[in-house]
Order: sequence, then C-alpha cells, then structure tokens
Amino acid sequence: MTTSKERSSLQERAKQRTTGAFRCLSCFKRLSPPKGATHYTCPQCNYEWRVAWFTPEEPRIRGPVWDSYEQLTQDRMKGGK
Ligand SMILES: [Zn+2]
Repeated sequence: MTTSKERSSLQERAKQRTTGAFRCLSCFKRLSPPKGATHYTCPQCNYEWRVAWFTPEEPRIRGPVWDSYEQLTQDRMKGGK
C-alpha cells in the first residue's frame, strides 16, 4: 500500500513552485499566461504585457504593450467611457 501522505506532500511542494507565472507590474496579481504566449492581458487591471520566455516553463514580463498602455491611461484621464 502506498502512503497517500507522501503523495500529498509532493503535490503541496509542486503547488508552491513559481514557474509558469509572473506578477503583474501594475496590480501584482500572479499571472499564468498560456505557454508560448508573447502578450498577456492581466484579467484584474487590464494592462497588456509583453511576455518573454527564459525557458519553456518560465515567463517574464518584458514590458507593457504601449498601444494598450496609452489607451488605458487616456481612458483613465478622461474618467473612462
Ligand atoms: Zn494587473
């Protein structure tokens, strides 16, 4: 009989790994873009980020997508629409 205790502690450890995710630079929400994505829009604050992949498992933010960044900033200054 295998010990289910060992297996669940392995799953716990896997959950705590941070690969496959980065933090939104605007609202700091943890984001997990689909593998290979080059752009990702934060579902919480709607800022769109350019994504780079150090490894196939590790996405990093390269910077904002300026078109949507400016659009959002303008919308906010106008008070939204
Ligand atoms: Zn965000």
